Amino acid sequence: MTIKIYNTMNNRKEDFHPRTPGKVDMYVCGPTTYDLIHLGNARPLIVFDTVRRYFEYSGYQVTYVQNFTDIDDKIINRASEEGLNPLALAEKYIKEYYTDAGALGVRPATIHPKVSEHLSEIIAMIRMIIDNGYGYVVDGDVYFTVSRFGGYGKLSGRRLDDMMAGARIDVDERKEHPMDFALWKAAKPGEPSWDSPWGKGRPGWHIECSAMAVKYLGPGFDIHGGGFDLIFPHHENEIAQAEACAGTGPFARYWMHNGFITVNEEKMSKSLGNFFTVREILARYEPEVVRFYMLSTHYRSPLDFDDTKLDMNKKSLARLHNALDNIEALLSGVSFGPSEILMNAETERFNTVMEKAEQTFREAMDDDFNTALAMAGLFDLAREANAFGKAISGYPGKAFPLEVKEALEQAREKMYKLGEVLGLFEHRGTAAEDSGLVDKLMELVIEVRREARSRKDWAAADTIRDRLKDIGIILEDTPQGVRWKQK
Ligand SMILES: [Zn+2]
Repeated sequence: MTIKIYNTMNNRKEDFHPRTPGKVDMYVCGPTTYDLIHLGNARPLIVFDTVRRYFEYSGYQVTYVQNFTDIDDKIINRASEEGLNPLALAEKYIKEYYTDAGALGVRPATIHPKVSEHLSEIIAMIRMIIDNGYGYVVDGDVYFTVSRFGGYGKLSGRRLDDMMAGARIDVDERKEHPMDFALWKAAKPGEPSWDSPWGKGRPGWHIECSAMAVKYLGPGFDIHGGGFDLIFPHHENEIAQAEACAGTGPFARYWMHNGFITVNEEKMSKSLGNFFTVREILARYEPEVVRFYMLSTHYRSPLDFDDTKLDMNKKSLARLHNALDNIEALLSGVSFGPSEILMNAETERFNTVMEKAEQTFREAMDDDFNTALAMAGLFDLAREANAFGKAISGYPGKAFPLEVKEALEQAREKMYKLGEVLGLFEHRGTAAEDSGLVDKLMELVIEVRREARSRKDWAAADTIRDRLKDIGIILEDTPQGVRWKQK
């Protein structure tokens, strides 16, 4: 089935046709690196990481570009507060970005370009814009002439006349039109600056994305993404710059925007005291719970953050883990072999419902990446796996038929495969992959502890349990003996 994407440019869902068959080229606006990333930053990261994962699951080769804005007023101000060089400050927060994004299961983009490393491309684009008649220079600043660009407002659905009426009165009189925006800003004393044909200065905010997207993906690339708040003016300006430079459009073919995040139903802001960094949230909730929660709502809808909702989602996610635990316990806890008593009916039914669950998942994701509905497919799988476990529990033979083993292995594989699209079960995934060695080591540890207990060396037994707990492994006593699992 074709993937459908809600394209902000036309305000409707459209069939996705890649520019190059089998390939997806996407650009997503990244953070300005002057501080730790916050909840509002985390949503687009998770949303577009999931979009990318789903394209990969669907067989596409994805080139994913996400920039770092490392030259900006906020960085300059913060650097002077911290007594650091602005680029050193930006570099520090880029490192922190990788820590937090990585914790949330956000994979690094294919390319993470930085503004500071693309001054020549930016300057070249500004020159071309001026040469094509869409820019003008005033006292070392360069502005974009919005009234010359006929398509200005096409993404946000605004008309230039209305924007003019709404413009504040204290406009810079050097500008030809109040909506003209800066492509290049002349250097102020003490600020970092770069040489340009218009004197020393630095780029305006919007030009970097146009220049870097075109450099890495070329004009007319597939998908451009970001938060709703970027539609105007940022993305509108990106389009104007790139298309004025190329002399033609489109700059990008599909525009995707994720909804806002509120906290306790209020806009997140420092003054309201409900502003959270990702790190603060991760001190209280497992990253997987945060990711699961962010994907439990369609990406274009607003998402409200509060503890009750996170706690509920934690429980839901635990149900999925539980089903995986059960599958894994069955696979390692019972014996399989050739058997006269077959369980074809149960196994066949299970295989059918598994296929259907994956289909539910795919249909939901094909429909504009509806992760909330896709999760229903995962829950179907979990519920059916549990039911299958129950259905076969009364099996009278000595060894379970091999078909049962195959079905269980398939269920496990499917849960991991679908989970991977959403970025779930990843720490379990690695444990399962090298389970050969880990399982053997854990068997050994459990055996040593059992021997300690049998000679009544409670201190040693407790130490083993506690130290395992410190590294996130929990021992559980079950009728079949001691079981271990990762927290
Ligand atoms: Zn951008």
